[in-house]
Amino acid sequence: MNTSVLSKEKDPMGTAIYDYFEHQESSKLKVFSSQFDEDEIPVKTLFRSFSQMPILEKEALKMASGKILDVGGGSGCHSLALQEMGKEVRAIDISPLSVETMKARGVKQADLINLFDPTFTDKFDTILLLMNGSGIIGKLENMADFFIKMKQLLHPNGSIILDSSDLKYLFEDEDGSFLIDIAGDYYGEVDFHMEYKEVKGDDFDWLYIDFQTLSLYASEYGFATELIREGKHYDYLARITQK
Ligand code: SAH
Repeated sequence: MNTSVLSKEKDPMGTAIYDYFEHQESSKLKVFSSQFDEDEIPVKTLFRSFSQMPILEKEALKMASGKILDVGGGSGCHSLALQEMGKEVRAIDISPLSVETMKARGVKQADLINLFDPTFTDKFDTILLLMNGSGIIGKLENMADFFIKMKQLLHPNGSIILDSSDLKYLFEDEDGSFLIDIAGDYYGEVDFHMEYKEVKGDDFDWLYIDFQTLSLYASEYGFATELIREGKHYDYLARITQK
């Protein structure tokens, strides 16, 4: 498991966030993957307010309670909304420019920390992973490391709230059947790299996971998974608690 943080020279998303915050506009944040066509993240959407958030995220923020950890805070959109609700939140991110932006925007506790850093041992009641939050797990083979870390960071009655998507729709045939190579890697394991202006990031693994597979792994590591709500397009919000 990678436990380091990014350097500013390899932080395209952070540079885009910083640029947008400073100038209220930005260039294209390009996303490349060996599995998909080139895509783009509209940087403005990373600055969404509570009212602009998808319903699954609104639900997640309403449910979050006690001491909250916002994992991969980005521009701080979720942390700021939680602070406005009067909740206590700490944001962490591996992107130095995102952390700088979060602080400048008023996130009271924002730190440059990798979730998997062994020296990060604070305790929380709610751990939030949003915007395909399961992505940070990277690959299915990292599930053990992920749940071990969650156990360390959670108070006994605490919960993880995350959103993800079942990518099976990408493999759907015209007749409604699914063409998935079950002998191959899990279909939700994706590799990406991003580019913004002249800043090019390294490749990283990003995990999209269907609810059933998530529940099976969670159960193996002593957690129970609850489907809170489904979105419009194979996306869902789940709450995971210790059994
Ligand atoms: N939550 C924000 C940003 C989502 S993008 C939003 O919804 O808008 C994912 C974020 O996770 C990025 O800012 C990235 O830098 C951060 N990230 C990726 N891996 C991480 C890790 N291991 N620990 C902490 N943050 C991580």
